[in-house]
Amino acid sequence: MSVETALPTHAKAVVIGGGAMGCSSLYHLAKSGITDCVLLERNQLTSGTTWHSAAQVRQLRSSRNMTRLVQYSAQLYSELEAETGQITGWYQTGSLSIATNQDRLTHIRRQGALGSAFGLQVEEISADEVRSFWPMANCDDVIGAVYSPDDGRVNPSDFCQALVKGAKANGAKVFENTAVTGFVKSGGRIAGVKTSNGTIQTDTVIICGGLWSREIAGLGGVEAPLVPCEHFYLLTKAIDGIDTHLPTLSDHDSHLYIRDDVGGLLVGCFEPKGKPIDPATLGENFVFGLLNEDWDHFEPMMQHALHRIPALETAEVRMLLNGPESFTPDGAFLLGESAETAGLWLCCGMNSVGIATGGGAGWALAQWIKEGTAPFDLHEVDPRRFPAVQNRLDTLMERASEVLGHHYAIAYPGHQWSTARDLRKTPLHDEWVEEKAHFGQFFGWERPLYFNNPSDPVLTYGKPEWFDQVGREVDAAHTRAAIFDLSTFGKIQVQGAEAERFLNGVCANDMTRAPGRAIYTSMLNSKGGFESDLTALRLGQDDYLLYVGTTAPKRDMAWLRRYLVDEKITLTDETENMAVLGLMGPEAASIATELGGNALLDLGYFRHCETELAGIRVRAVRLSYVGEAGWELTCEANDTKALYKALKGAGAEPAGLYAQSSMRIEKRFLAMGHDLDGDVTPIEAGLDFAVKKCAAFIGSDAVAARRLEGPRMRLVTILLDDTSCVPLGDEPVYVDGEYAGQASSASFGYRVQRPVVLAALSTKICPNPEGARAEVDIAGERFAGTASLKPAFDPEGARMRTRYSVEVEL
Ligand SMILES: Cc1cc2nc3c(=O)[nH]c(=O)nc-3n(C[C@H](O)[C@H](O)[C@H](O)COP(=O)(O)OP(=O)(O)OC[C@H]3O[C@@H](n4cnc5c(N)ncnc54)[C@H](O)[C@@H]3O)c2cc1C
Repeated sequence: MSVETALPTHAKAVVIGGGAMGCSSLYHLAKSGITDCVLLERNQLTSGTTWHSAAQVRQLRSSRNMTRLVQYSAQLYSELEAETGQITGWYQTGSLSIATNQDRLTHIRRQGALGSAFGLQVEEISADEVRSFWPMANCDDVIGAVYSPDDGRVNPSDFCQALVKGAKANGAKVFENTAVTGFVKSGGRIAGVKTSNGTIQTDTVIICGGLWSREIAGLGGVEAPLVPCEHFYLLTKAIDGIDTHLPTLSDHDSHLYIRDDVGGLLVGCFEPKGKPIDPATLGENFVFGLLNEDWDHFEPMMQHALHRIPALETAEVRMLLNGPESFTPDGAFLLGESAETAGLWLCCGMNSVGIATGGGAGWALAQWIKEGTAPFDLHEVDPRRFPAVQNRLDTLMERASEVLGHHYAIAYPGHQWSTARDLRKTPLHDEWVEEKAHFGQFFGWERPLYFNNPSDPVLTYGKPEWFDQVGREVDAAHTRAAIFDLSTFGKIQVQGAEAERFLNGVCANDMTRAPGRAIYTSMLNSKGGFESDLTALRLGQDDYLLYVGTTAPKRDMAWLRRYLVDEKITLTDETENMAVLGLMGPEAASIATELGGNALLDLGYFRHCETELAGIRVRAVRLSYVGEAGWELTCEANDTKALYKALKGAGAEPAGLYAQSSMRIEKRFLAMGHDLDGDVTPIEAGLDFAVKKCAAFIGSDAVAARRLEGPRMRLVTILLDDTSCVPLGDEPVYVDGEYAGQASSASFGYRVQRPVVLAALSTKICPNPEGARAEVDIAGERFAGTASLKPAFDPEGARMRTRYSVEVEL
């Protein structure tokens, strides 16, 4: 294929890297009308990881929007040849996911249920039917399977050539042998790209540098947490009986995928413990490169493969291919604009789904760049979801091994990574260890999930072993008083004469409230979808403190900075300097009084004040995320231990995140990343009360239009009839036999003694949700319940608004 020689001095967009992600991004930018775009490849197209990819496209995913990306890819790959005249090697072979134990069967049934709801063809089949697809497979231990006929595979190099051909037909240019060596920045945003052949001025750069992306991003002051791991597949010579294309056999209990390859077999693995690679060892000369065979490492996988395909015993091995692929700390890729440098985008860290997702990811990115907002919510792959500490090479190397090993793991609820832990600790960490906390990691922070059991629980789809302990913690908050450690909340201080005006422009609620008021608000995108859900305290005329979600500060700081034009405003991330303890429950008031905090009792709902508790300076805000009366107490990080000791001494008991989640779900308090995201507007969420109606703010036009048209979905509570079923919060929901929407949160509600599900239901299918009967599909079995627009517990909110002056005996 011909390539240009003269590097332009200016381009609308520059794509770095000529692998699957770069070619897809270029193609979609050009197709979307951004024709003045160039791709810079240090060596030759596809010479990084892409050329040796097994290139399968498996569409079953755990979320709607990740599924949409792969669905788009499959569609694109099936059409690209007709559009460009370049073969892509696309075969729609289908795939089979087999189960050899009950939990795997539940796992694939859950995936299948979601896949069907998202419009994929999915069919549960028996072991005998697996045999009919794969006569040479040993199916003696197979107890069930799911067949997905829409899946397929592509030839990775051919499909990249087709993408480039399509991109060039729309005006894009490709420069091989052109290495990016640095960036030009101006006022915090990207202004150009320095290359081995000159500089290109541009305000949009997309890093698609595969395993080298972290280093490239570093040149622009951007964090891209990923490192490569070795990834193996075995190739055999021709085997008798393989004379046609077979559905890919996904034997994830054996850590294997198996497919035909030129009349032989390709047997790939995600072994339990991967081999991370220091990227510095794979320099610019790693071109169409492979890593050394490692038969000792592959041996246990070979045994699994021999069990599944006995014919391998006599097959002649062509090679044990070992190629590098990038992995991130949570196994999801990086797609979106960086937090640190406006105009610098990431499309990398593909965790072995770069071909399956590549088409969709490139499309989504191009739409996002063109329109200014993502085509749909992509928070799962938002590059801003990691703190700086997770971008350290040592923590990345440690985690990558586990992430590769987890690729085919059963998606049990409550899974926690075991490597690269203890990166960020709240001031009460030692106390929580004393209380035998079981910790979860969020944005690098260790948060107590529940207490009195530090060892790892046996993961299950059934009733978890912590069930009763969490019930006791809920009981403490419901009948006595509990302490919730909320210190990991992001805390962003916004100060300056223009702070009120600025926040009124970026927040949906009215920020013009007197100092002393707490304001529940959100930041919305231009489509009216949630970017952040937060509580702001107005500390002074020119001073606000925003409490944002634990995982949100990097994302929210970037969002605020993006709209900050007035130099007189300062934004400060105060997260680590302050701690927050929630004191909640009917005895919270008597505890506050005992500790000298009488001022707290005069505080109205959503009001805050500065006072002392046990001689410690705190800012108390009267609100509740759990539906019981109490305060969230913010103090200096250094004072937290003393405050905790005083609260505990006065009778408050620790309660963890699982108790808090159960209580917030019962109260229908919605959470970002679960019930709220970029696709949901306040109208759908029932949060219009927290939106100012007659003012301009980001997203106001879209919200007004939605209000006028009426919601497409409604977030409802569903109380399930069967008290023993265990919904997890992502299941499809059916009304009158029709798919009506998806669950977004679920928990057992200890105060209502039933499983509670929050779900977004289509207003077309379920126009009158109040009292409607709905069915939640849990791994293929439907569980009935009753929907409501109200919270399951204390719908009027009487408990949390208790007026102490009349109702608390002091
Ligand atoms: C053995 C194996 C099997 C796989 N099987 C599958 C599968 O079945 N299905 C699936 O979906 N995925 C699979 N994958 C993963 C998939 O192949 C990758 O996710 C995908 O190819 C990554 O593409 P990329 O564009 O991100 O990276 P790459 O292909 O590595 O491209 C990055 C490019 O950036 C260039 N570059 C680096 N630095 C610079 C610089 N400074 N300036 C300019 N250019 C630069 C490099 O030269 C390289 O060409 C597999 C991976 C492996 C290793």
